[in-house]
Amino acid sequence: MTDLKLDVLVVAAHPDDAEISVGGTLLRLIDAGAKVGVVDATHGEMGSRGSGATRDAELAAATAAMGLHVRENLDLPDGRVQVTVESRERLAGLLRRYRPDAVVSHHVEDLHPDHQATGRLTREAWFLSGLKRLAQDANQTAHRPRAIYHYLSHTLSAPTFVVDVGEVWERKLAAVRCYSSQLAPEDGGDDGSHFLFGADIEERMTTKARFWGESISARLGEPFLHQGPMPVDDPLRRWLV
Ligand SMILES: [Zn+2]
Repeated sequence: MTDLKLDVLVVAAHPDDAEISVGGTLLRLIDAGAKVGVVDATHGEMGSRGSGATRDAELAAATAAMGLHVRENLDLPDGRVQVTVESRERLAGLLRRYRPDAVVSHHVEDLHPDHQATGRLTREAWFLSGLKRLAQDANQTAHRPRAIYHYLSHTLSAPTFVVDVGEVWERKLAAVRCYSSQLAPEDGGDDGSHFLFGADIEERMTTKARFWGESISARLGEPFLHQGPMPVDDPLRRWLV
């Protein structure tokens, strides 16, 4: 049986990163008929809340809320993501298996070391996935996605383009809320203050999205970076996502 061919594959360090960073764009792509998958590098086990079973259930709920076609995990250790020969070949194997046209991951200079490493891991795997000999070693056919983009989590840098996500914003919030054990304070005097960015994730997401939306005369937007100039076939055609 051949695996589903994807249009877009997102590689994220932790479960919830994809929904928080690019959830609106993915919903728009899926609405338009695209096949979209997410690879999480880790299971987010460093999060101090919720059992493994709770996290698995939340991940399944978020995946269903998004309507993702594929969700995979690289099984790398949370808090210790590194670019190694093994981790990049594991990811390159998934790129060959699902053959996406575009791959999307964290900015390579993100504040969080796992995000940074996952961004670099994705760039290296993206290149390696197109090498014939390496593919043969893995009994696969080489495939390098045509495009690679980065999303901005904790890094403020000028994006190459911004996707208008106003119409799907409530659905994105609903998907993010599936991770409630990781993102909301527990009872008993827990004010969420030990979270890196506090428990006000929805307000922070919306503030950022309003900022980037404003930059394209839209209400809410998600920013993306393409390294170097972006090739364009028809400069009169509006970017369709
Ligand atoms: Zn993360």
